[in-house]
Amino acid sequence: MKNLSTLSLIFLLLFACNTPPETSDTADMVIFGGTIYTMDEAMPVVEAVAVKGGKIVFAGFEEPAKALVDSNTQVIDLQGKAMTPGFIESHAHLMGIGQLKRQLDLSDIKNYREMVARVAEAVKKAKPGEWILGRGWHQSKWDELPEKVVKGFQSHETLSAVSPDNPVYLRHASGHAGFANAKAMEIAGISADTDYDGRGEVFRDENGQPTGIFNEGAASLIARHIPEGSLEVRQEILELGMQECLKNGITSFCDAGESAKTIELYQSYREQEKLGLRLWVMLSGHDSVLLEKWYQKGPQIDDWLTIRAIKLYSDGALGSRGAWLLAPYTDAPDISGEPSQPMAHIGEVCHQALTYGFQVCVHAIGDRANREVLDQFQKAFEAQPEKAKDHRFRIEHAQHLSREDIGRFAELGVIASMQGIHMASDRPWAIHRLGIDRIKEGAYVWQKLLQSGAKVINGTDAPVEPVNPINCYYASVTRRPLDGSAEEGYEVDQRMSRMEALRSYTLDAAFGAFDEPKMGSIQVGKFADFTVFSQDLIKVPVNEILETRVDMTIVGGEVKFQRDKNM
Ligand SMILES: [Zn+2]
Repeated sequence: MKNLSTLSLIFLLLFACNTPPETSDTADMVIFGGTIYTMDEAMPVVEAVAVKGGKIVFAGFEEPAKALVDSNTQVIDLQGKAMTPGFIESHAHLMGIGQLKRQLDLSDIKNYREMVARVAEAVKKAKPGEWILGRGWHQSKWDELPEKVVKGFQSHETLSAVSPDNPVYLRHASGHAGFANAKAMEIAGISADTDYDGRGEVFRDENGQPTGIFNEGAASLIARHIPEGSLEVRQEILELGMQECLKNGITSFCDAGESAKTIELYQSYREQEKLGLRLWVMLSGHDSVLLEKWYQKGPQIDDWLTIRAIKLYSDGALGSRGAWLLAPYTDAPDISGEPSQPMAHIGEVCHQALTYGFQVCVHAIGDRANREVLDQFQKAFEAQPEKAKDHRFRIEHAQHLSREDIGRFAELGVIASMQGIHMASDRPWAIHRLGIDRIKEGAYVWQKLLQSGAKVINGTDAPVEPVNPINCYYASVTRRPLDGSAEEGYEVDQRMSRMEALRSYTLDAAFGAFDEPKMGSIQVGKFADFTVFSQDLIKVPVNEILETRVDMTIVGGEVKFQRDKNM
């Protein structure tokens, strides 16, 4: 008797949780037939979801969801696949993703000879004088060194020989350095006589000749001569970028720093209801006129295009030794990197951002940069405690932290916006830059941050890496490179659990953008943004995670991407 009443009580409770709301007796879309992870602690897995007007109206058992189906309802049978809240990319560059589709993708080249061969191919198809652009090369990943090496990097002579008349500019995978041929340098007026005392460096050989490598700030010497695309070209780039995201299951995208011109383009797409996914955009902190305009205007908080954050840089990247360290590089004892702008400027922007209601997101890679940024954040919070109650300031990358600074993220409420995939790709060579002690202490320390109570949000920094969340998820839960090397994983105590990794791409990612009331979990009232995977990311054996495919991307209750149209 006792058992029976317990059972009926459970039944009643479940029934109560699953009664469809009376206000909607039909749904626009009903999804069932697979495992649906909600990220809602009260009900972590449900059988079915119903959608109306672009929002979730029901999540629970299949029966009551099916009761909402009528002749106009789109019914999706998951056929045993898994669905999660729509994936949120927390740090990437939408126009860069689109642009890469139109440029040479050099991310898979094995050495300098291959780079030259790819450019030689492109020269054959190029119009006279047309710029040949590419990105994604990384000398630390090559299987052989070029003949001439200056400071660890190739020199332009062989490249210039295959493209004497077309300027060539190839950006490093990190985005923090560029490689130009002789024609590009001629157009930019760069020669042995060029004096450059700005930030970064023009690399030179022993005769004082520029080698074609332009590091950090010096890259703009070349980049500013590359003609900007027409409006049609920029529209094409945006559309290619959005398609690529939707193909990868991304329903919401945090764009890490865009110019006034790109924001104008996004606004026009928003007005024409042509944005395929939700954008949350950081204003480029390089443009003080743009910032001033938005301070006066205030944040734009919108279902499709939110502008409420500012992107700043505090240092460069580890690969080019531009990351700012407390102690010198292990493999370059006289270099410690450098700040990419005065810290006082970052402090000033923090102050203004708090005043006007914007988040601040600062790129910081090295332990010195992270410390200095935390210091600036702290000063700003202390100066305006009322405004700083729920600031959601973020450090982008937070790759390498000193032991004393790890706990400060949670203490100050600073979000660690990290990229699981960076660890997989960079750890094999980052060890040379930092040495094992610093790596163990503070490099890519997701678990230390999580355990201290900080929020860690995930992403790819595409086009630095592909915008593929499955690769990034795999790296986050295994700490293994994708190429199968280091099979046991690096510093595996810092792995995320499967649920932590899922959270870093959904609910916590939403928190990083103030969006958790609207997205990040499958709960009634939130946007009907979902990602359907070919298999269950939580349960599939580790060695099969990378075989997972995105089968469907649903944004606002609309199927925006479907791999197999028969599904
Ligand atoms: Zn970035």
